Amino acid sequence: MKNLPDNLYSLPAFLGHINILVEGDECVLIDTGMLGELGRLKRQLSKLGMDWASVKAILLTHGHLDHAGNLAKLVRLTGAAVYGHTEEQIHLDGEFPYRGYNRVCGWLEGLGRFVTRYEGGFIDQPVEDGQVLPFWGGLEVIHLPGHTRGHCGFYSRKHDLLFAGDLFLSYFCFHYLPPFIFSNCPERFEESYEKVIKLNPSQILPSHHIFTDGHKFRRSFDKIWQRNFRSQ
Ligand SMILES: [Zn+2]
Ligand SMILES: [Zn+2]
Repeated sequence: MKNLPDNLYSLPAFLGHINILVEGDECVLIDTGMLGELGRLKRQLSKLGMDWASVKAILLTHGHLDHAGNLAKLVRLTGAAVYGHTEEQIHLDGEFPYRGYNRVCGWLEGLGRFVTRYEGGFIDQPVEDGQVLPFWGGLEVIHLPGHTRGHCGFYSRKHDLLFAGDLFLSYFCFHYLPPFIFSNCPERFEESYEKVIKLNPSQILPSHHIFTDGHKFRRSFDKIWQRNFRSQ
């Protein structure tokens, strides 16, 4: 893993990543994966000298199935509190009222819930923009709507690193906004991008990526910002 802090493990999940943020003999998770990741997660924790009881919190960037699919199982295994934006609960409940072309996203999620025997989940620690969570030396909640209404990033000032969730996707040399078909309020992407430009983190880690390199993803983010919101 290049450039990222030593106490961060970005575990590839079925679609995105589960981030394990280690603090001594405990950790917090950002997102949960959705299919077949729990065995690998358990092995990774045990390599780090930890077990399920070491997970003290689960932070959700948003409520899409690929990020929250294992939530109920993980809460059962770890007893951890779940932090997320209240607007995401409706996604966890599988009741978001998708409209227009966005309905495809709803259908795919419905199918995914069936296939993965999704059990739902509950945000018991609602977060809001600017709140600093007492993990990993302080993680600031950055509300970044666009992909979903309650989509949030988490910013570590100590490491100058933003966990950006699905603010953008980065595969090989392709960097792009999440497809609008999977985004509930794309008209809000621009304000979220401006917010990250102001925050100016030196490293960014999106959920969907290959070859983890936070500085490279920061450059990818800038390119997407230029291409989509600065070309006029
Ligand atoms: Zn998503
Ligand atoms: Zn995703």
